[in-house]
Amino acid sequence: EIRQLLSNIQDMERLMTRIIYKTANGRDLRALSSTISNIKPIKSLISECNSGYLKEIFSQLDNLDDLYSLIDQAISEEPPVSVREGKIIKKGYNKDVDELNLILTDGKGWLAQIEAREKEKTGIKNLKIGYNKVFGYYIEVTKSNINEVPETYIRKQTLANCERYITEELKDLENKILSANDKVSSLEFEIFSQILNYTSSQIDRVQKTAKAVAKLDVVASFGKTAIDYKYVCPEITINDEIIISEGRHPVVEKVLKNSLFVPNDTLLNCSTNKVVLLTGPNMAGKSTYMRQIAIITLMAQIGSFVPAKYAKIGIVDKIFTRVGASDDLASGQSTFMLEMTEVAHILKNATSKSLLILDEIGRGTSTFDGMSIAKSVIEYIIKKKKLNCKTLFATHYHELTDMEAIYDGIVNYNVAVKKHGDEITFLRKIIKGASDDSYGIQVAKLAGVPVEVVERAKEILVEIESNIEVPRDKKTFKKEAFSDDQISLGDVNNDNIIKYLRKVSIDSVTPIEAINILNELLTMLD
Ligand code: ATP
Repeated sequence: EIRQLLSNIQDMERLMTRIIYKTANGRDLRALSSTISNIKPIKSLISECNSGYLKEIFSQLDNLDDLYSLIDQAISEEPPVSVREGKIIKKGYNKDVDELNLILTDGKGWLAQIEAREKEKTGIKNLKIGYNKVFGYYIEVTKSNINEVPETYIRKQTLANCERYITEELKDLENKILSANDKVSSLEFEIFSQILNYTSSQIDRVQKTAKAVAKLDVVASFGKTAIDYKYVCPEITINDEIIISEGRHPVVEKVLKNSLFVPNDTLLNCSTNKVVLLTGPNMAGKSTYMRQIAIITLMAQIGSFVPAKYAKIGIVDKIFTRVGASDDLASGQSTFMLEMTEVAHILKNATSKSLLILDEIGRGTSTFDGMSIAKSVIEYIIKKKKLNCKTLFATHYHELTDMEAIYDGIVNYNVAVKKHGDEITFLRKIIKGASDDSYGIQVAKLAGVPVEVVERAKEILVEIESNIEVPRDKKTFKKEAFSDDQISLGDVNNDNIIKYLRKVSIDSVTPIEAINILNELLTMLD
């Protein structure tokens, strides 16, 4: 019932802006009064509710009775767009306006009488009285009848088929009607302006009510959506855990027409499951999964139920996302530059309480550059105390999955697919562990890339894989990066230096000897 009433409410804040800036017309005032007429019934409906939040809204809603009665009594039900041409003030509100309007309506009657009388007097059947802005009221006679025109008529205008005349009587009447018209228009405008001024002076009350209506609109929509789409009430905590059971993406599940949305579980915390490294084929559902976690967290924090079977959401201070690749050529940034600018922003501003959604960082550049950046970003997040926050990181760099074994808190997940020969079926299920491949070529085939291109791509892949030994050895990922600026002896690629150094007995050398040794080492480097 509340939603039904809310649907009759127009944008009060916008109407008020027009009223304040005096650009409102009679229709805007009518829109405001018809909007206000819904407040009382809304209040009576929520007066029966026990919720503290609704009680607060109740106390902020103002019936605005005075405004409603003023507009309802003063402004005509269907006012014209213009505010300066009368017909805006309702009959019965102002005596002077009513009197002037009477002259106008009577004047119309008088004109009709004159027309009938002149027709009879002259015998010209198609004689008629008209009006235009230049000549005012005139009597129009077609050319075939001009011989019948009496001498008292004064010719004013000749047209192709007719002549237009005025008479003394017509001129008098015109003056009466036009002055009444002018008077009523300016009087109505004056009254309208007064009403506008009064309404403007009530801005605070209207805005407060508008805000309360907006809040009610939000919770009513939350309620409706929660029921329609079977959302659940999340448990909100101040811990750092995010636990979601059978979570769904609220938008994707709605737009999927031919298939059902596959729900997935989530566990994120600041200990064992801090950085979730998500791998899996293209099209598997990585982006959808990560965004669904961000959306569920956001929905929980704004007070909505969430699309899941169960959710426990530890409050986060910010959600940072680096998703999609959108060019911003106009601002002079390339796709990759934009990606890196966003990464820089995230690394500078995220805190240990934040939630990070990083979708394929580094994909905008060469494989090895991209992979190095991706790995370095993850290391930075996990090692910097001020960051060290819950992160979802989707990548096609399968080499990164080795990091799980090196760092506490990094866990591999992947999106399951079923393989049958060359074909794959997407299962959309997030499971523990790393994915073995991206199946990019299979997805290209599914997308309709010409068979020739797909087949050639397979050949090229075989060639590349046999030529390049991509480092998969865990030793290639050194834990020391960031934490230790000291280079290890093993990194010095000069056997003579190492042999020479091993001979040095550090306990017995004097400072002078030490400088000489250093000098010796430097010359060996040359
Ligand atoms: P890429 O690596 O190519 O970016 P991706 O793994 O990020 O792909 P998504 O873009 O998340 O894949 O998902 C692809 C499509 O799969 C979505 O548009 C959606 O229609 C469908 N999809 C994703 N997740 C689910 C799900 N849980 N249930 C049903 N359909 C899903």
